[in-house]
Amino acid sequence: MERTLVLLKPDAVSRGLVGEILQRFERVGLKIAGMKMVQPDEDLATKHYHDLGERKGADVLRATVEMLVSGPVVAIVFEGVEAVELVRKMTGPTEPKAAAPGTIRGDYSHISFKHADVKKIGVKNLIHASGSIEDAAKEIPIWFSEEELLKHSPVYAKHTLGE
Ligand code: ADP
Repeated sequence: MERTLVLLKPDAVSRGLVGEILQRFERVGLKIAGMKMVQPDEDLATKHYHDLGERKGADVLRATVEMLVSGPVVAIVFEGVEAVELVRKMTGPTEPKAAAPGTIRGDYSHISFKHADVKKIGVKNLIHASGSIEDAAKEIPIWFSEEELLKHSPVYAKHTLGE
């Protein structure tokens, strides 16, 4: 079974959307392997966004780290069939302006890169979801120890995961 990391970022927590977003993932039958609320510090946020500066530049890295440390984050590891791809699909693309209705970013946000860059703020797109199986394998240990990821068999897993 594939694992993926989801972070409900400070804007999602502050807007009271934790329950609604979590419900979407439960509804498709993904299994929660681990979940906790964390106040990230600069070190944790920089580790998590280790390649963002290279990909998008120092200004975006600074603004995004600032955004991630601005309040508590709900960190979740989901397990499911090809869970990385599924969770990305449900999350939508990085830029809320481009995210289609029906995706989490498209349903709860609309800001553009252009507006965020003029304002020198990180794009508040509510959620982080691992971009690939390799990213998930690197990101999960940043947020969870192996002991914090629990093996269990919820009743629905028989139907949604074929367990
Ligand atoms: P994703 O979160 O979709 O995997 P990235 O890893 O490229 O996307 O970016 C990480 C986070 O950095 C984004 O979710 C967003 O919050 C922020 N971000 C990315 N690009 C920009 C940008 N041009 N301006 C402001 N913030 C950005």
